[in-house]
Amino acid sequence: MGQDYMYPEFEVVRREDRCIRCGICVKQCANGVHGWDKTNKVLHIDESKCVNCQRCVCFCPVHALKIVKSEAGFRENANWDNQTMKEVYLQAKTGGVLLSPMGNPKPYPIYWDKLLINASQVTNPPIDPLREPMETRVFLGKKPAAVQRDAEGKICCQLEPQLELAIPVLFSAMSYGSISYNAHASLAQAAKELGIYYNTGEGGLHEDFYAYGANTIVQVASGRFGVYEDYLNAGAAIEIKMGQGAKPGIGGHLPGTKVGADISKTRMIPEGSDAISPAPHHDIYSIEDLRQLVYSLKEATRYRKPVIVKVAAVHNIAAIASGIARSGADIIAIDGFRGGTGAAPTRIRDNVGIPIELALAAVDQRLRDEGIRNQVSLIVGGSIRSSADVVKAVALGADACYVGTAALLALGCHLCRSCQTGKCNWGIATQRQELTERLDPQEGCRRLVNLMTAWKHEIKEMLGGMGINSIEALRGNRLMLRGIGLNQKELEILGVYHAGE
Ligand code: SF4
Ligand code: SF4
Repeated sequence: MGQDYMYPEFEVVRREDRCIRCGICVKQCANGVHGWDKTNKVLHIDESKCVNCQRCVCFCPVHALKIVKSEAGFRENANWDNQTMKEVYLQAKTGGVLLSPMGNPKPYPIYWDKLLINASQVTNPPIDPLREPMETRVFLGKKPAAVQRDAEGKICCQLEPQLELAIPVLFSAMSYGSISYNAHASLAQAAKELGIYYNTGEGGLHEDFYAYGANTIVQVASGRFGVYEDYLNAGAAIEIKMGQGAKPGIGGHLPGTKVGADISKTRMIPEGSDAISPAPHHDIYSIEDLRQLVYSLKEATRYRKPVIVKVAAVHNIAAIASGIARSGADIIAIDGFRGGTGAAPTRIRDNVGIPIELALAAVDQRLRDEGIRNQVSLIVGGSIRSSADVVKAVALGADACYVGTAALLALGCHLCRSCQTGKCNWGIATQRQELTERLDPQEGCRRLVNLMTAWKHEIKEMLGGMGINSIEALRGNRLMLRGIGLNQKELEILGVYHAGE
């Protein structure tokens, strides 16, 4: 027992009375938790490697396994919890920056859970979504400030390029490299079937997925991986990634070990080389610089694609969004601090940025106050967990929501939070062929379509309950929300009354 010994976080319990020694758990665990001792013909367990991904538990044919959180650990107190002490030990051992995946797990307020949705009762009665038409389509892009007519008085129907979504949801940016080919294939097929969009993230577009271009948002990040003319023209929209909710102010790093032949070709970088995206775009230091890139991309695509600018939700997000709206961008995507990632410095993930709910309310209000809300659409992301979160986001002012973690859960993710290891036992955040094969794209697509179809039904029910028959009519209608357990300042920023008012 050295100074750096820490008791494993999880205990793997095997019921010997049930186990039939089939060896499935040994084969299923890429972390090497389960092993077979050939000499003594016994199964053994190395709990120190367990991340509680639940793969062995799900695949054990006789339910002989369970994984429980260990009760052993440091002696905690209100100031020093077990995790904090573990992190000090880890850094004392390695001298390195701690890395973590997925979103901020700290117990900051989740404002979605402190907002309640209205329902009609006697007057303005509810609408039955099973019998009445109910519109869930939204269009993202610039809108005119007022109805425009030509010289003969006819309404001008010419609009800037728009994205049409059957429901106000898009799949968040996740790069090929951070997630597997089969995960991307699932997202692309589902987006096509659902009439929505998925997003390449910063990893370029695999040649097989050009076929899904009409449902693809292609991203241009600071590393410019895989960006060239055909790529820009392949997508339905282009997203400039300035920031990400999980790691505001930080660039990206895909280790060379994950850059195999296919990823190297897609990203247009040498095989085995680290893919490092710098924190800033080295050609953008002002809104004027951003404007140049927005118009360069529009020029390269003959003004046929909307341009999205994605930023992390940070302290002065309202002013930042106002600047972006004036840069010529068609859509602003704001990513809250609970948004997921393949890997981020733990301190950044857990301490930088602000909740998406407050950022959204502040941005929508600022753009309205400045009379430029029509010039941009707003997409928000950063832990949109259910159709209720979508409805609340739209009522707070969003046009649509990015959904990332919930989509991964639909694909089989068990939120074990070990994506950075590249050993995802569910075939999602990995490039190892024996693991990626575990995710069947057809099945993945079916589950994503099911999830979004269920959300669509629920959105219609909530709209109908409010007596509203179109999601566009809910946008920014904060009177449909009431706060619960919020202080005056929070209510003021969210622009909602307290329940009972
Ligand atoms: S999968 Fe279950 S039954 Fe098979 S060896 Fe492991 S614990 Fe035993
Ligand atoms: S994607 Fe895989 S590694 Fe990452 S949290 Fe989900 S199950 Fe775990």
